[in-house]
Amino acid sequence: MRTPIIAGNWKLNKTVDEALALARDLKGKLSALDDIEIILAPPFTALAPLATALNDSAIVLAGQNCYPTEGAFTGEISPALLRDVGCRAVIIGHSERRHLFAESDDFINQKIKAALSAGLKVIFCIGETLTERNENRTFEVLESQTRNGLAGLDRAAMCRLTVAYEPVWAIGTGQTASNEQAQEAHRYIRNLLAKMVDSSTAENTRILYGGSVKPDNVDGLMAQSDIDGALVGGASLKAGDFIRIARFKRN
Ligand code: PEP
Repeated sequence: MRTPIIAGNWKLNKTVDEALALARDLKGKLSALDDIEIILAPPFTALAPLATALNDSAIVLAGQNCYPTEGAFTGEISPALLRDVGCRAVIIGHSERRHLFAESDDFINQKIKAALSAGLKVIFCIGETLTERNENRTFEVLESQTRNGLAGLDRAAMCRLTVAYEPVWAIGTGQTASNEQAQEAHRYIRNLLAKMVDSSTAENTRILYGGSVKPDNVDGLMAQSDIDGALVGGASLKAGDFIRIARFKRN
């Protein structure tokens, strides 16, 4: 039985005061949910205040990105510094990083290794563009992103990794993958992990769906056998929507 994860990616939104208000609201209303994991990824500026505010809660704080090393890298953030400020996880390979900042699979692989070495859990994002889907290349893209992004990781490392399947065409567009499209991709990814690592690791790995998850579509997605949670962007910015998503109805 895989414990579901509902993760909120706040992207480049929320001042410190706004972030604190939202986090306190979520903490108050989600603390009774003890059978799912809640992860929040606010902008870097809000991490330290949120770490203090969420100190006595089970909500996990995550970075939205990291750089593989420390030193003369102006404007970047390292896994060790994320840990230092109270993060226990980090999102790596988000499609906005891949497409807006030209991050390669190899660079993503370096970041994953660095984050895991620093003791962070990783939410590893993969997903095809609309063109790739229309060209029937979805599985090919998912396979190459997964194999290259996770190259060299052993079974122990894989146990601290969560995959997020986020079709690029569904992110921030309001166009969610259908339950069947999402389930098909998740099944494919799980089978791939079984081939790459082993079947028990694949069965235990949480695979989240991301892409316009909202209160009115979360229940159908979460009813799919290989969907273990959601990575939520836009709808995570509103307490009411995120709480409803976290309280998805189980079959
Ligand atoms: C995301 O950014 O990971 C995401 C899924 O965004 P949205 O929910 O807004 O589509």
